[in-house]
Amino acid sequence: MSGNESRLQAIYQITNREPTLTKMTKPLEKIWATDVFTLAKMEEALSKKAFKAMQKTVQSGAALDEATADVVAAAMKDWAMAKGAKFYSHIFYPMTNATAEKHDGFIISSPDGRAITEFTGGLLIKGEPDGSSFPNGSIRTTNAARGYTAWDPTSPAYIMHTDNGATLMIPSIFMSWTGEALDKKTPLLRSNAAMNKAGQKVLSLMGETDIATLNSSCGAEQEYFLVDTNFANSRPDLLLAGRTLFGAPPAKGQEFDDHYFGAIPERVQVFMQDFEDRLYRLGIPAKTHHNEVAPGQFEIAPYFEAANVAADHQQMMMTLLKLTAKKHGFTCLLHEKPFAGINGSGKHVNWSVGNPTQGNLLDPGDTPEKNLNFLLFCGAVIRGVHLHGPLLRAVIASAGNDHRLGANEAPPAILSVYLGDQLEKVFQDIKSGKIKASKSGGMTDLGLAQILDFERDPGDRNRTSPFAFTGNRFEFRAVGSAQSVSGPLIAMNTMLADSLEWIAGKLKTVLKGKTSQADAVVTVLKELMTDHGNAVFGGDGYSSEWHEMAVKKRGLKNIPTTADALPALQEASVKKLFKSTGVFSPIELESRFEVYTEQYVLSIEVEAKLVVDMATTIIYPAATRYLSDLALTSASASEMGVPLDNSVAATVASEINDMMVAVDKLSTALEKDKFKSMTAHMQFCANDIRDLMDEVRAHADALETLVADDMWPLPKYQEMLFIK
Ligand code: ADP
Ligand code: MG
Repeated sequence: MSGNESRLQAIYQITNREPTLTKMTKPLEKIWATDVFTLAKMEEALSKKAFKAMQKTVQSGAALDEATADVVAAAMKDWAMAKGAKFYSHIFYPMTNATAEKHDGFIISSPDGRAITEFTGGLLIKGEPDGSSFPNGSIRTTNAARGYTAWDPTSPAYIMHTDNGATLMIPSIFMSWTGEALDKKTPLLRSNAAMNKAGQKVLSLMGETDIATLNSSCGAEQEYFLVDTNFANSRPDLLLAGRTLFGAPPAKGQEFDDHYFGAIPERVQVFMQDFEDRLYRLGIPAKTHHNEVAPGQFEIAPYFEAANVAADHQQMMMTLLKLTAKKHGFTCLLHEKPFAGINGSGKHVNWSVGNPTQGNLLDPGDTPEKNLNFLLFCGAVIRGVHLHGPLLRAVIASAGNDHRLGANEAPPAILSVYLGDQLEKVFQDIKSGKIKASKSGGMTDLGLAQILDFERDPGDRNRTSPFAFTGNRFEFRAVGSAQSVSGPLIAMNTMLADSLEWIAGKLKTVLKGKTSQADAVVTVLKELMTDHGNAVFGGDGYSSEWHEMAVKKRGLKNIPTTADALPALQEASVKKLFKSTGVFSPIELESRFEVYTEQYVLSIEVEAKLVVDMATTIIYPAATRYLSDLALTSASASEMGVPLDNSVAATVASEINDMMVAVDKLSTALEKDKFKSMTAHMQFCANDIRDLMDEVRAHADALETLVADDMWPLPKYQEMLFIK
């Protein structure tokens, strides 16, 4: 089938599509966590003693003894097999944004030929995948490639079903034989531990005596696009790069804002309901869904959970979004910018810290000025963002996210904190050495008798801030839609740990002088705000004034691309931060730099090769065919004595020629393989390669607006975005 036929076929297929058959969904209580080996299920299956030990491990991270592990493994196997599982897998989270799994059968055969099954504590606790081809940033050479997965009992095991069977999945960490972390879960757990340790110190100094283990929480809002699979399959760029590398803007885009929070198309709702039922079975608390700004764009957000569990669930959600979409004839795009000129997708990582005894430590209550614990923890975040802005920028850096950040649809590439009016005032007061009563939001008066008055939040929302306080948590809004939330969570927990350590040290000294706790807090926070208050910004983050003021007056960094951002991982201050908190050893940190750099370079190179390929084999042939049609028509028209104006043909010809010149330049640039450093290679991709890709695209998109519609081979923006 020629290209244009496949485009027309796609439209035909979608128009005549039979709706996906779905059964009515079951009540929540019938499906909730049915596929999860929860603590409640363990309580039923385990002896009292074993359950107590397990519960302690889950709640406070205490080590589990071997005997208990054996009992848990046996119970887990029985439960999984009763649900049809014949295989189990340690699922782990390598340094890519994906998950990895190796499946093993429960089966061992007996000498008399029967199939018996075995699953011991040892097998549950430790797996050994041959992980030599996972990115490891020169931590392992292939001849020393042993890698281990180890069960993380704080994240529950669960069952994944296919139409034909089931597998027991065991969330795990992944490390090298030499003990280095090769994954995203290990450092996340370490960052939590570091934050807990420092937080405990601060809370004890504040006179708290009963202090439970502190944990961080995460609720991640996920944006995504749905495109009919018939279209996606006719676009090699969507299939291989996850975004369109060509495409002229449609006559109608998102300018009417008529999609945002609009009625959800029925086909999409059917998909969402199916998807959310799967999440519920897996114990993932899906909470909200709605249309997003761009046509074809949607959002899902679960209720928040402990960060470690939320991170595992988030990975599962990304996998299930894609799988479920496929069943409904959609391709789910998680890329940060699938369509040029149309809003891209992000992930808002809502984050807080707390424990059962002191509650949410980022909840100010009605009178934040009197909530000393809150002030200290919030102050610690401000200091963290100021000191480690470039690190926060580095952990959200990716080729995809570069298209979004700073492009007036997403937060700028300058890291600042938004506190809201009330809190900003409290911290400004502290800076000037006193705490005054804060103002509340006041009551709304809509003048409508039938609508009850309600209390306004004390601070408005600020969509233009990359890092915003939203009432009882911070929202890191600049994370990319395809990224794992672990990187941002690790950075936030670690900077908080570091700041809490600093605060503990200062408090200790000040309190020795017999000052009251309230006065000591003001003294410490005054110093903190004087040194780090520059990171607090409540204005319009998209404005050019801010870009100028942030850099020139406040000394903040504007870091536009991944190539500029990743080198932060090699900074001495970042090395020190991670080493002192025990989250990454210098070798582990260096390996992250290497892996992320490599991923960046590879993704740009894949895109560039696709640009060359598609321009040469899809767009050039279509355009020259059209030109040949024009030439033939013009010749016969002249023969008839009715000569045509050949200006369209001339423009088509010149766009074709210019496009192929740019393709040639891009191919040559791609051959360059000698670079001074990895950073130099990234810069070459960020500047030279991307500019040349844009140059090819400009001519190709011009051709799309010239070539006869029935001859254009690639599904167009209006079709992909508007046909559902
Ligand atoms: P928005 O108004 O920002 O779009 P949503 O309701 O879509 O808000 O999402 C807010 C997210 O923040 C949800 O996942 C919610 O569970 C989460 N959240 C609420 N409180 C906390 C908290 N203390 N810690 C972490 N996440 C939280
Ligand atoms: Mg939000």
